[in-house]
Amino acid sequence: MNMSEGVMLQVIEYIVNDDSFMVHVQFFGGEPLIRWEQLQEFVIIAKEKAKIKEKNIQFGMTTNGTLLDEKKLTWLKENNISFLLSHDGIQKAHDHFRKYANGRGSFDDIDLALISKYFPDIQIRPTITPETIEFFADSVRFFARFGFRNIATEPAYEKSVNWKETDFQKLAKVYEELASMYAKAKLQGEKPFIFKFIEDARRGIRNQKMNIKPAGFLCGIGKNSYGIDAMGRIYPCQRYASNLDPRTVIGDVWNGIEKDKLENFWWKIKRENMKSFANCKECKVAFACFGGCNACNYEEYGDPLQIHENFCEYLRVAIPIGVKALKATKEVENGD
Ligand code: SF4
Ligand code: SF4
Repeated sequence: MNMSEGVMLQVIEYIVNDDSFMVHVQFFGGEPLIRWEQLQEFVIIAKEKAKIKEKNIQFGMTTNGTLLDEKKLTWLKENNISFLLSHDGIQKAHDHFRKYANGRGSFDDIDLALISKYFPDIQIRPTITPETIEFFADSVRFFARFGFRNIATEPAYEKSVNWKETDFQKLAKVYEELASMYAKAKLQGEKPFIFKFIEDARRGIRNQKMNIKPAGFLCGIGKNSYGIDAMGRIYPCQRYASNLDPRTVIGDVWNGIEKDKLENFWWKIKRENMKSFANCKECKVAFACFGGCNACNYEEYGDPLQIHENFCEYLRVAIPIGVKALKATKEVENGD
């Protein structure tokens, strides 16, 4: 959906006039680079207005990379705008799902070498599914050849994705490989890998040591992050904004956030409410569980706290491997 000039200017007004000292704007789509001129205009105007208000403003985006060329990369670099790259890895994996309307895969249209020249440290966001899990270790090695080592290892665990026991076994094997790659790079002093499942394990161990119970969703939803759609409506986060569900609107850029709606939503995502889940009390990975993606839970069940068993099973596989990797590198002790 396109954002009109009038809405864009009001969005800028809203974000430069809120109370925070610093604001980070993340463009998402669809594909934000389709509206390249508008994105540039947004950044230029917002920067000018933020300067007047003495507000620190930063920008980022999520892109599939197909429209990135040298000119755009140069401008992004000059303006200090980094991005998350949605890319599924080697061609067999990437072209399995990422196809144009005519059925052609988009792999050949993404110049990873060029992107790496400007942004070697971006995070890559592959979609991991039962169909592509067997290629995932090769995909990580493929990304590493371009210097990309920050990989979001988070599978699609919606109930529509049919993870079977054998798929989780494959995933375990692949994650063991990733853990070895992580440990080897760390111990040999190479550029480190950053894998989300190892970071989740690290955070969980730290919280456990400090006797901190996971207090809610990790991502800042409803606390310090909001999503705004092309009509100027405000949602608890960008995924809610993408879904355009009127029941999840918490305000708009003309009138601001409606406190009642936010508080109602915030109440729902309190961690205490999640403890009512029968399985959680006995769960061995609860120390590292932050409830998955709130928006995804809502999409699936109409309830932000209803977690799909795919997520729990995934965590039961991934977290112990993450802990093992941290022990192998002596980042945590064996007694932890
Ligand atoms: S992984 Fe599942 S069972 Fe375990 S704490 Fe999280 S939600 Fe509960
Ligand atoms: S709820 Fe999900 S989509 Fe929304 S910010 Fe959190 S992790 Fe991201």
